[in-house]
Amino acid sequence: MITATSTKTTTSSRGRALGAGWRAAAACGRVDPELFYPLDLDPVGPAVLAARRVCAHCPVLPECLGDVLASEDPARRWGVIGGTTPDERTARYARQRAAGLDATGAAA
Ligand code: SF4
Repeated sequence: MITATSTKTTTSSRGRALGAGWRAAAACGRVDPELFYPLDLDPVGPAVLAARRVCAHCPVLPECLGDVLASEDPARRWGVIGGTTPDERTARYARQRAAGLDATGAAA
């Protein structure tokens, strides 16, 4: 995971309390970080799809996505994180806020 750090404890759908330690299991830790910051953010373009392929097999995708939605500056979204483009995170963030949910999808 590549975004700002957080000390917030997150719990995956598998019920593991991982805290900030989830980053150690991030699939992107073994990949060139540039892959996740393509200039072309076409959601079905080859650059985004290459990053999504890594995220799709990442064991901590839920923690990553929850963390980025909780900590990312909405005015500065960039890159493919948690398998999502900036526009997709903006839409997801808006849907969660409208539904009264926090960044992890839990009732706020
Ligand atoms: S979901 Fe993607 S960006 Fe997030 S930690 Fe996993 S590989 Fe990295």
